[in-house]
Amino acid sequence: MRVSGPEIARHYNGPMIEACSGCGLLVEGGASGCQRIFEELTARDFSNVLYGRVHRLLVDTYCLQHPDAFCASAKSMAAHLTGLAWTLEREGSPARGSETLRRWIEAHPGLPRPTPP
Ligand SMILES: [Zn+2]
Repeated sequence: MRVSGPEIARHYNGPMIEACSGCGLLVEGGASGCQRIFEELTARDFSNVLYGRVHRLLVDTYCLQHPDAFCASAKSMAAHLTGLAWTLEREGSPARGSETLRRWIEAHPGLPRPTPP
């Protein structure tokens, strides 16, 4: 017998699964649960060099998926957006940000913040 969505919800007694308001991940606790996973992954980056090799990629991706909280300013939006593009399109280090990009962002404090898609 196949059980449909509402019927599953009526019989489900597990933890409350909600969609993260930032990225849409279905996780216990919604946005706070998603952030808890992010914090666990970043902690792992600092305890295991194998994961640390992609630390910057993880941070830029997470922040761009949650722009209301982590890209509130033009500076933070530019840093994460250019950092991700530098890593993915220019073969930049996924572990560390670009010093050239950091200097460029610092030299342009009046950048307008683009509207997230
Ligand atoms: Zn999320």
